[in-house]
Amino acid sequence: MKIQIGRTCFILWSGLCIMWQSQAQASSLKLYEYSLPRMGTTFRILLYAPNATIASEASSEAFDRVEQLEQIFSDYREDSELIQACRKASQSPQTLGPDLYLILEKSLYFSALSDGAFDVTIGPVVKLWREAGRRQRLPEAEPLSKARLAVGYRNVVLDPDTRTLFLKRDDMILDLGAIAKGYAADQARAVLQKYGIHSALVAAGGDLSIGDSPPGAAGWDVEIRSWTSGSETESQTLQLRNCSTSTSGDKFQFLEAKGKRYSHIIDPKTALGLTDSASTTVIAPDGTTADALATTLSILPVSRGLSLADSLEKVSAFLVRRHGTEFQTFSSRRFPAFSSKSTLHAGWVPHNAGSP
Ligand code: AMP
Ligand code: MG
Repeated sequence: MKIQIGRTCFILWSGLCIMWQSQAQASSLKLYEYSLPRMGTTFRILLYAPNATIASEASSEAFDRVEQLEQIFSDYREDSELIQACRKASQSPQTLGPDLYLILEKSLYFSALSDGAFDVTIGPVVKLWREAGRRQRLPEAEPLSKARLAVGYRNVVLDPDTRTLFLKRDDMILDLGAIAKGYAADQARAVLQKYGIHSALVAAGGDLSIGDSPPGAAGWDVEIRSWTSGSETESQTLQLRNCSTSTSGDKFQFLEAKGKRYSHIIDPKTALGLTDSASTTVIAPDGTTADALATTLSILPVSRGLSLADSLEKVSAFLVRRHGTEFQTFSSRRFPAFSSKSTLHAGWVPHNAGSP
């Protein structure tokens, strides 16, 4: 007899609406759910554990790990490792802890891969757009072009032997907003695994790190909704396990001015917020890759973004672009639900595949 003991669904608006649900059949494991605001979003943990004590200990250690990472990566906390290192790194190379070194290394990898569409040195421009958002007015052209001069990932020097960071200009500000949450979601899930918890999902806002399937299910259901035109939406459900998915978009973070909607994602070439990328969803083997690529593919022209996704192993993407009040969708070759010819990766299961 199959007994449904748990069903949870969340709606995340991030340009796309993502909903996921899990179902537990008869099993000694129970579904537990926790949430905590961190890194400017809500971290949610869904996990299957034998009892409440293990579930609560594991999730509290996972949240501690997220808090630790926020203290390292934050560009809002003056005493974060990132801000402290940035302050001094143009004078002399600064030794970094393993998390900061690793995420900067990955950031430079995605910058090179995207020819600078993803750029971890975008900080000075992001700062102006944040201020503009508070004033509800576009940033002034002059400070924007000055800030743009400080952007350039090639001015970041990492030395793998000494694990140090050097910045070639003293006006540079590093910003990990496009990559840190995916990394943190994976790290939180790694803590759960230490407790023997493998059927789990950690969501850092729109960045999901997904483990083994819920007991008796073939995967975690993730529903992706996209606009088709005006306020109309259509949705598709993916069943995912052992992978990560991230959605970047301008649903919440945007500035409306002169009849345009400017996203919080900046094109480093123009220093302007994007206006046509409504949302971009990426599925990838790990959270850092999914997060970084969702931002990157928002910026790249559609055809370049899709070819980039196709060129990377176990990566696929679904893009929604805005043209006035109309929306156009694109999916990369391997995107499971939306592509006409779905080629599913190992670790993914087709929707309605039934129980394993
Ligand atoms: P996400 O929501 O993951 O797409 O990340 C958006 C955040 O990344 C923004 O709020 C900025 O902090 C930062 N960001 C904006 N534009 C870029 C860019 N071109 N490259 C890297 N980070 C960016
Ligand atoms: Mg991102």
